[in-house]
Amino acid sequence: MIIVMNPKCSKEEVLKIKKAIEEKGVLTHLSQGETYCILGVVGETRAIDSNKLLRFQGVDKVLKVEEPFKKANRLFKPEDTIIDVNGSIIGGKNLAVMAGPCSVESEEQIIEIAKSVKESGATFLRGGAFKPRTSPYSFQGLELEGLELLKRARAETGLPIVTEIMSTDYIDQFERDVDIIQIGARNMQNFDLLKQIGKTRKPILLKRGLSATIEEWLMSAEYIMASGNENVILCERGIRTFETYTRNTLDLSAIPVVKRLSHLPVIVDPSHAAGYWYLVEPLAKAAIAAGADGLMIEVHNNPQCALSDGQQSIKPESFKIMMDKIKRLAEFEGKIL
Ligand code: PEP
Ligand code: MN
Repeated sequence: MIIVMNPKCSKEEVLKIKKAIEEKGVLTHLSQGETYCILGVVGETRAIDSNKLLRFQGVDKVLKVEEPFKKANRLFKPEDTIIDVNGSIIGGKNLAVMAGPCSVESEEQIIEIAKSVKESGATFLRGGAFKPRTSPYSFQGLELEGLELLKRARAETGLPIVTEIMSTDYIDQFERDVDIIQIGARNMQNFDLLKQIGKTRKPILLKRGLSATIEEWLMSAEYIMASGNENVILCERGIRTFETYTRNTLDLSAIPVVKRLSHLPVIVDPSHAAGYWYLVEPLAKAAIAAGADGLMIEVHNNPQCALSDGQQSIKPESFKIMMDKIKRLAEFEGKIL
């Protein structure tokens, strides 16, 4: 339920209605801008009589929110959510570029890649330390050592780090050490992990599940937000379809759909969507044209020998060429990179 207040209503009027609704055992969420004042109501709203609410001073309208996601809903918060990670901004007019290897493999590897992607204009360093691999016999990541190496690469370049968490066991460490905590596609519906991660104060990058609908994806964001953390970045990374030529199918329409439904920033990972290095640049450009707030790109200095996802990783030289085009596209779209 949404209570649209008159933008000129007084603080007292807002407090009065807020108190009256909260007495019914629901939670309220105030969103105020220059031209609007909205009180979102979450919880069991069936017992609330909207006609009675209209009698309160300052109330313009009462609307029912059809979608099951509330805090993530643009009706609850009309303006874009903008996330500032030590000066690197995601959302609004900004374009964020997260680049780096699939897995952190060694100190030399991560530092060399971090330096080169920074030089080409990346705004974040990505790198997996804990890897969700399909086979238990594949490289599982350097785990905590990988996290230490990412911290060294951050110290060396100043790039904030994004890395995936797989278990609630490491939440404290990730909250302390990582700038953006990634929830991978395979864990998008690990509700316990979502609830726990929602208690942290770090931005969360939530990848779309392999076969998740847009609504399921937004409901996962809602889990994190309902636990108290509203700094969620959505990441479209391709979904399973009948097509097998590409690793997944990049759902470009998800970008404008999500931007209409939600105020959360949406970035695109063309690397995991495509599965092949030569598809990364065209899909990245398409994502920007479709309105994405940023990109996540796998870059490796020696893709043939990469311990994971070498076939979809682009070399630092190709990343530079791609970034020059992305910068021009960003300008065309009126975005800041
Ligand atoms: C990754 O970003 O390294 C990754 C494993 O991605 P996804 O969860 O989208 O498969
Ligand atoms: Mn990968």
